[in-house]
Amino acid sequence: MTSNTPNIDEAGVTDHLTDVAVVGSGLAGMVAAVDAARAGAAVTLIEARTAVGGRARSERHDGFVVNQGAHALYRTGAALPILADLGVRWTGRRPRVLGSGWLAGGRRSSMARLAPIGGTRGLAALVRAATSGREVERSRGRNMADWLAEQPERARPALWALIRTATYQADMDGSDAHAILTQFRRGARGVYYLDGGWQTLVDGLAKVVDAEGVRRLEAKASAVRPVDGRWAVDVPGGSVVASSVVLATGGPTDAERLLGDLSPTVSRWARVAEPVKASTLEVLLSAKPKRRPGAYAVDEPVYNVDAAATCRVAPDGGALVHCLFYEPDRHPDLDPRARMEAALDVWQPGWRDRVVDVVERKRMVVAHDRPRLAPAADLPSVVVPDLDGVFLAGDAITTHGLLADAAVSSGREAGRAAARHCAVRPQPDRATTG
Ligand SMILES: Cc1cc2nc3c(=O)[nH]c(=O)nc-3n(C[C@H](O)[C@H](O)[C@H](O)COP(=O)(O)OP(=O)(O)OC[C@H]3O[C@@H](n4cnc5c(N)ncnc54)[C@H](O)[C@@H]3O)c2cc1C
Repeated sequence: MTSNTPNIDEAGVTDHLTDVAVVGSGLAGMVAAVDAARAGAAVTLIEARTAVGGRARSERHDGFVVNQGAHALYRTGAALPILADLGVRWTGRRPRVLGSGWLAGGRRSSMARLAPIGGTRGLAALVRAATSGREVERSRGRNMADWLAEQPERARPALWALIRTATYQADMDGSDAHAILTQFRRGARGVYYLDGGWQTLVDGLAKVVDAEGVRRLEAKASAVRPVDGRWAVDVPGGSVVASSVVLATGGPTDAERLLGDLSPTVSRWARVAEPVKASTLEVLLSAKPKRRPGAYAVDEPVYNVDAAATCRVAPDGGALVHCLFYEPDRHPDLDPRARMEAALDVWQPGWRDRVVDVVERKRMVVAHDRPRLAPAADLPSVVVPDLDGVFLAGDAITTHGLLADAAVSSGREAGRAAARHCAVRPQPDRATTG
């Protein structure tokens, strides 16, 4: 394979030739870059921002480590073993989900009052039934909204709240019940909140990227186009020419922005994708709140959880409450910030007196697509069938799981496929690389 040799062309711009160009260095792009490099390819990783990590990055505020919304690593998801295989280390603990509280009608509620399902024990039985291998299998090919409508009426509000937390979806209509229940099953088997936030994963992956000799380029790619049987990724002042390209910039819409109309398939994926979004408030408190760890609302798409009750993300004695409002675009009648604050007023009275800072994020893309009931050809995949040597990675690839599991797992497949693709191509004429 080729070496990453920089070249100054006649116009004075920096071009270089590589085997694999990976665009985007979130979790998906970094995993793709490492796996392509481990397969023997020369890799250039192009990132528009100064910092790598994308949506998995955390920020530091007054001694707190703040993820971009509550971030849980699924114990039985695809990401965990891949990160371990790459040598990314982390520590963390599992939150007590069933110890959380419930809100209904703008008031605190108990499981018993909320629905006669036998309290926490009854709830655990419901979750077991919904996530049993038989039930998950039985749900194949079904619309999740229909599945939910068939559950006993008394169980629906709590099930909806729990499934929403595992998928970030507040609207299940048109979603593949098998994928949703599989994710719910993963949630029921436990998640980890990470000490030091998800920045730990980002830093760990960045270290492996460097150790594998991946060349990092801080530049915003503006287009990807074919050139002499290869792919040119245009960046300010030049282009990176590669035998294969991994687009890990988010979802199919971002990929289409780079490809223009080169791929009717990617354009179709971009048209039919239905991103999952959330508005969030990160509430940094100087003292532990009254009640821990968090609360589910059952009649509006709201949840809050004190991550500091589980992992090290706040200074001693402090708390970091993640508040979520799921799918704001599907609830245009509700004011997300007002609803999140109202839920906190009920669950954590007095929180306003202890605020160190509040970080608000509106309509964040949690996942660039949801697991839709659609023909396979309408679901984004790693291989772009009409572009030889172009691969996609990210959380839109729901056939790899949901959320970061999809990003990491599709990143692995894309990186390996991109390396395989350039290994079977004729090698470029090194004389042109200067
Ligand atoms: C509020 C919220 C809560 C979440 N909770 C969870 C959770 O509990 N569990 C879970 O598993 N997942 C969760 N997620 C999802 C998880 O964060 C994402 O699935 C994952 O981080 C996506 O990684 P990615 O690499 O695919 O995309 P991104 O992180 O979006 O990375 C894309 C990268 O590409 C770069 N880029 C874009 N365009 C260009 C360009 N033209 N040129 C160069 N670079 C470019 C961007 O700057 C970015 O760094 C949550 C997300 C949000 C927003």
